[in-house]
Amino acid sequence: MSKTTAPEMVWKLSDFEIGRALGKGKFGNVYLAREVKSKYVVALKVMFKADLTKHKAVHQLKREIEIQSHLRHPNILRLFGYFYDDNRVYLILEYAKEGELYDKLRKMHAFDNQTAANYIYQIIDALECCHSRKVIHRDIKPENILIGANGDLKIADFGWCVHSPSSRETVCGTLDYLAPEMILRQPYNEKVDLWCLGVLTYEFLVGKPPFEHKDQLVTYKRIVNVDVQYPNEVNDLARSFINGVSLL
Ligand code: AMP
Repeated sequence: MSKTTAPEMVWKLSDFEIGRALGKGKFGNVYLAREVKSKYVVALKVMFKADLTKHKAVHQLKREIEIQSHLRHPNILRLFGYFYDDNRVYLILEYAKEGELYDKLRKMHAFDNQTAANYIYQIIDALECCHSRKVIHRDIKPENILIGANGDLKIADFGWCVHSPSSRETVCGTLDYLAPEMILRQPYNEKVDLWCLGVLTYEFLVGKPPFEHKDQLVTYKRIVNVDVQYPNEVNDLARSFINGVSLL
């Protein structure tokens, strides 16, 4: 795929052999694909322009492409390039063979300390890369993390990410992972990703996020009050890590 780094090369659908569907997203499907010349296997995300326009997601997609295509890190899903035709936009993505971390977590219910620590280390490393480039992800959660062929995590879905410090007061992200400053519509910075890191660690070890409640208002209140209840199986070191990252 050396073509991807040469800006003068323009991709088109006939450059790829399309395989099975890997999943369905909000704006279209993701397919396994192989670049014809190099035989390089990728994931091709196909989105309909009409859906993107209808949901006012064009700006968001442009930002996602601009930011993700410039980030190079083993734990950040590569975006090799993009192209479009009359009706669709195509993203050429690194193929994450082992699928969604969310599915693995649901299957296992929770991860043991060692697995959780190993995963969290990889996410920290990836976030360090983002933050050093002034990129805030803003939507770290198991659904947005994929697993590569060798079991390494890959942060994906940069749809909500932003170059700090713009859009500082936009409320976005998933309720369970929202940082208090976002709920309170206060200015925020890259530390919202560290809050998510604490929530993620908790969910890895317990099997559900710390502030989960069927009533969204209760979840909001619990987040703002940092009302975390730890089950006995979460050891002191893990508790102090989770408490620590949210206070950084
Ligand atoms: P998305 O539109 O990004 O939410 O993707 C929809 C689904 O396709 C995800 O839930 C994954 O199961 C799958 N998927 C997306 N991107 C990839 C990828 N790069 N490698 C493997 N599977 C993917």
